[in-house]
Amino acid sequence: MIALAEGRIARVCTGVAAPPAGAQRLGGLVIPGLANAHSHAFQRALRGRTHADGGSFWTWREQMYALAGSLTPKAVHALARAAFAEMTLAGVTLVGEFHYLHHRPGGGLYPDRNAMGLAIIEAARQVGIRLTLLDTCYLHGGIGAPPEGAQLRFSDGDARRWSERVDQLAEAVAGSADAGSVRVGAAIHSVRAVDPVAAAAVAEWAARRGAPLHAHVSEQPAENEAALDAYGASPTELLERAGALSDGFTAIHATHVAPADITRLGQAGAGCCLCPTTERDLADGVGPAWAMREAGVTLALGTDSNAIIEPFEEARAVELDERLVTGVRGRHTAAELLRAATQGGYESLGWPEGGALREGALADLVAIGLSGVRLVATPPEQLIPALVFASAAADVTDVVVGGRFVVRHGAHVDLDVPSELRRAIAGLHG
Ligand SMILES: [Zn+2]
Repeated sequence: MIALAEGRIARVCTGVAAPPAGAQRLGGLVIPGLANAHSHAFQRALRGRTHADGGSFWTWREQMYALAGSLTPKAVHALARAAFAEMTLAGVTLVGEFHYLHHRPGGGLYPDRNAMGLAIIEAARQVGIRLTLLDTCYLHGGIGAPPEGAQLRFSDGDARRWSERVDQLAEAVAGSADAGSVRVGAAIHSVRAVDPVAAAAVAEWAARRGAPLHAHVSEQPAENEAALDAYGASPTELLERAGALSDGFTAIHATHVAPADITRLGQAGAGCCLCPTTERDLADGVGPAWAMREAGVTLALGTDSNAIIEPFEEARAVELDERLVTGVRGRHTAAELLRAATQGGYESLGWPEGGALREGALADLVAIGLSGVRLVATPPEQLIPALVFASAAADVTDVVVGGRFVVRHGAHVDLDVPSELRRAIAGLHG
């Protein structure tokens, strides 16, 4: 039995003979809420539409830019609301939205410079999901190149204007009714899009605010080559020089990091968020998750492009993809993978008080049904391996965020999620 008070877990008791009066019964297996530590919600609109013509990460990016160039704050709100709602059905209680779609097409400012970020915050509030909005600095189209096309919407011009805008956003959130469920963090898009001086300014902002700091790191070999050509250093080394690496830092992907980079991340106490279903989709490669864990890097997981929203698939892929590469089974146990999907993500997103079933933790819970085809007849001592290696979003029955039901009996309590998705996506593709 789990007793809740004021959005927190007050007590965890086992062996309770009968539930006390007023208790809500959650069938099946109850686990801590799942954290989706890396999402670009708007990319949900690309699902299934990018597979026809082959190509590479870079050709996929052209399709993504075409979408990013067309979206209004209203469309971003609808997409975020629908994608976040889909995430809750999959057991996600906390999402980290890596947000760089800041300004009007061409780069002009909205009357409220944070119109886009506020639209995402409003979407999270309506869905009932906990949110860390990772406001992303994005200044250049590539190393030494000005932004162009859709990238003009991403850029604040310089790091000072980025930090002024994000200060405003953080203060607006802190003074609002959303303060209990929304936090503002920072992100350096990548060393391609943020020069070393600007990266240092973003890192300084995050340190001053005690906010989490994320960056895409070495997703593609071409990023490593560009950094080496321009600066004689790897992306991780550049971020280290900028003062970005700390226990508040999370490297996104880190697919092509070198052993020395893994040592740097480990020594800093940094985290790494792997996004295996997107990394597969974009032909990125398989990251060195086990080597990072061995070096002391805390793992988290993200659905990134939202080409699929299946948190347990992200978790098992860390182990299974590495099996294909190494020929070795079992470097990551099911319990370790589940920890990456829960506690690891909560820590990465600046909510260390969540992601665990213990007294005082945030009352973010997920109930998994055990009578469906994937999990039925599993012995109790094998439930965690079965959950991680065989279950699906469809097995999630109930989701609680901050002590409040968001999903009950497999349905969102307020929203018809397929209709939300249809409304958000129909009409975007002409
Ligand atoms: Zn990303």
